[in-house]
Amino acid sequence: MFTCSKIYTDIPFAHRQHTHDGHCSLIHGHNWSIKLTFKATELDENGFVIDFGKLKFIRQWIEEHLDHACLFNEDDPLLDTILSAAPHAYKPYVVRRCSCEGLAEHLFGIFTPMVKKATSNRVGITRIDIQEDSRNAGSYTAKT
Ligand SMILES: [Zn+2]
Repeated sequence: MFTCSKIYTDIPFAHRQHTHDGHCSLIHGHNWSIKLTFKATELDENGFVIDFGKLKFIRQWIEEHLDHACLFNEDDPLLDTILSAAPHAYKPYVVRRCSCEGLAEHLFGIFTPMVKKATSNRVGITRIDIQEDSRNAGSYTAKT
């Protein structure tokens, strides 16, 4: 199997991890990095797993959904209160878990079908690494 990776850096967005017993329960931001590792058993005509120049749809998705967004867990009890108090102050994006690990799993589910569609099922994603700053990161690896 061949792999290659693409990283998107310095993506500003916020999150709030309401179940955390420390300061992570407060809305706060990072300049995140998202690294996708692609896999294929056969290379394309250029010898690539995937042509990085043809991944604009991923950058567009990130800009549309995550750039300057605020991520909340779907079971955050303050979600409706926060958003209704200042509906134009947030670009909300709600996920099951907005930790690095949870976001990695979420994005795996979003990006995998997009990549498969763009490559006629030749390419998959084997791992997503999410870095919230220079010290803290998490990942999700495909089960197969
Ligand atoms: Zn954080």
